[in-house]
Amino acid sequence: MTTVDAFNPSPVLTFDAQGIILESNPAARAAFSLEGILTLGEFLPAARDLDLGESIQQGLQIWLCAQHSDLLYRFLLQGVPSESKGYVYAQDISDLRIAHADLRAILEVTRALTQENFFHALVRNLARSCGMRYAMVGTYSEARGGHALPVAVWQDGLFVDEDEFALTGTPFRTVLEQTPSVVTIRDETLSRYPGCAIAQRLNASSFVGVTVEHGEGERIAFLGLFDPEPLREGPPKDVMLRVFAACAAGELQRRQAESRFQRVLVTFEQQLKELSCIYGLAESLRTRENIEAICEDLVQLIPPAWRYPELARARIILDGREYTSRRFVETQWGQSAAVVVDTRARGMVQVYYADDVQAAMPGGPFLASERKLLDAVARTLGEALERREIEADNRRKAIILAQERNRLETILRGIGEGVVVTDTRDRVLMMNGTAQDLLGFGAREPVDTDFLSHLKDKEFCEIWRETADAGSDFAKRDLRLGGKHPRTLSVTRSRIPELIQGEDCYVTILHDVTKEREIDQMKTDFVSGVSHELRTPMTSIKGFVTTLLRSPDMPQHLREHFLGIIHEETDRLMKLIEEVLEMGSIESGRAVLRRVPLDVTEQVSGAVSVVTAAMLAKQIIFEQDIEPGLPRFLADPTRFHTIVCNLLENAVKFTPQGGQISLRAHREDGVLVIQVQDTGIGIPKDHLDNIFERFYQVKSGTRKSAGAGLGLFLVREMVKLHGGTVTVESELERGTIFTVRLPLVIPGPETKPDA
Ligand code: ADP
Repeated sequence: MTTVDAFNPSPVLTFDAQGIILESNPAARAAFSLEGILTLGEFLPAARDLDLGESIQQGLQIWLCAQHSDLLYRFLLQGVPSESKGYVYAQDISDLRIAHADLRAILEVTRALTQENFFHALVRNLARSCGMRYAMVGTYSEARGGHALPVAVWQDGLFVDEDEFALTGTPFRTVLEQTPSVVTIRDETLSRYPGCAIAQRLNASSFVGVTVEHGEGERIAFLGLFDPEPLREGPPKDVMLRVFAACAAGELQRRQAESRFQRVLVTFEQQLKELSCIYGLAESLRTRENIEAICEDLVQLIPPAWRYPELARARIILDGREYTSRRFVETQWGQSAAVVVDTRARGMVQVYYADDVQAAMPGGPFLASERKLLDAVARTLGEALERREIEADNRRKAIILAQERNRLETILRGIGEGVVVTDTRDRVLMMNGTAQDLLGFGAREPVDTDFLSHLKDKEFCEIWRETADAGSDFAKRDLRLGGKHPRTLSVTRSRIPELIQGEDCYVTILHDVTKEREIDQMKTDFVSGVSHELRTPMTSIKGFVTTLLRSPDMPQHLREHFLGIIHEETDRLMKLIEEVLEMGSIESGRAVLRRVPLDVTEQVSGAVSVVTAAMLAKQIIFEQDIEPGLPRFLADPTRFHTIVCNLLENAVKFTPQGGQISLRAHREDGVLVIQVQDTGIGIPKDHLDNIFERFYQVKSGTRKSAGAGLGLFLVREMVKLHGGTVTVESELERGTIFTVRLPLVIPGPETKPDA
């Protein structure tokens, strides 16, 4: 052994080829207990397998590691051939081992980063590396202030649960206040924290703590270690603790970010599911015909929108019908929402989870958003139902109304009378064709116009308004229409409740009474006319008779003259009375024909003789043209005479001085045609239709016809009795032609007069 070796502060030993320990320096003797140890193999068991002689001879270097008295050493065996012995140099490498263990711990912790078990790896390695019995990592936030949430706790080789705990009165508070340094508290000071349950429980006498900081120096968590034993003196663990704290900070942040992301993702996924449910419902509402099909769709659409779609089941109960999704079961995990239509609950929409769903989920398995979705679905279904029912009802009502209206219209249009339907504000709702004609609208139905605005009769309109305001009907009021041909309508109006679309309406019936009113007028005229006609001859008869009675000595020629006048006046009276009587018998249907074979020429001559005097007086030229050889025919002689006579009398009456009258008779296909033509004043066109009416007289200017308006009426009625017709053609100021057509009934050899 060299001097150098003798003074080497590291242990040095020498050995020979047999492995016998030859020398040892003072350092070796201080480090190792070499008492009783002779061979290298005893000192270093690993060296037993070595060929020490060979290694000396070859001058080899051999490295060995071994533990001695709790310390780790690295040994260098160096063969020295020149000295025929070997040297053992020992180097204490215990520190290295600790560093190695710390490195391994750090490696294990960093490997566990992002792993589920990270915090467990952290506290386990923390406790082991620091050689302490209790290690924990807890989160801390300013907001929570006095409280911390333990994330992972390790005690005596086991993971244990630690609830939230108060930070005040604990060494953790000190750690958090003294950041960023690692805080180490030894026995004598830990007793200052009587409120620290962990310290009390462990009867701790030492504590090591470090804060976990967020990037900007915000403290978010802390690591803490306790042990009943006082802290061993040793290499400082500060670096490792800081590495652990950094790892914990990184992991906590990552986890926060991940859970935030996860939450967003879950919310997003949930929203997506809910949206597709709503979309599906909207599609179903759009495409499906009936509510049943929509419910069928909906029970399939609901479960996929719930958090656990494979366990969710849906059911709809609506108006006593039930719709369910596949594998429907009713469990304790259910929620329902009422389907309300027009404030009445008609059913419900339900979601149940199969029993497999985690019963212990906080607040049940349902999410608040699902509750909202269920409510929305039920509400939408209710609204859809309501809308469809309203639509169906409206359609039904519209059809009924249309049918009602059609029926009503058909009836009203079919009525021969004029019918106008107005609302209570006098707007025209309907006017049938007859009314349009009567009121002069032609083919235009003045729907939705003010009815009264079309009427000129102020008096009528006033009565209409007054009675309408009083809500009363009126009957047979005359409405006078102005214009070229004034007409009179008889109007009857009735208020019909709820006639059209539930509204009260007025139904007004119009009836053309122009003719009746004219006839009424004529009747009045006739009565006065007839009275006058009667009084004139009566007065004259009475006068002449009185004179004759009072003058018995009257000369004969004067007496005869007076008697002649009396005779004439009596004839006029007779004729008038006969006409009135004839009219009475015809009107009452009592008129009977007494037909006998007549000769046309004979009859015509009889009639002409009646008017000859009058024609002569007016210097009228008369022509007669009777087809020769006309056969005798069957007719009532008195009436045939009246027909021809009346026509001739009229011709004379309405033909001025010096005019012409011609009478023609001929045969036409079994019909006897008799025409009386004059060059008189003619008849205005619009009177032509009426001149055959009773009492009808054309009034023009001041001219008053002498007759009673019965002549032509009797002609027409008598011709009709014979089965014939009478027509008139006339031109004002040019003349008139009356044509009578009578069936030429030829009498048989045995023909007898009618009874
Ligand atoms: P009346 O006895 O008053 O003549 P009628 O019935 O015979 O009554 O005739 C009715 C009306 O017809 C007459 O008032 C007259 O205005 C018109 N009328 C009849 N015949 C003629 C004619 N030949 N020419 C013109 N007007 C006539």
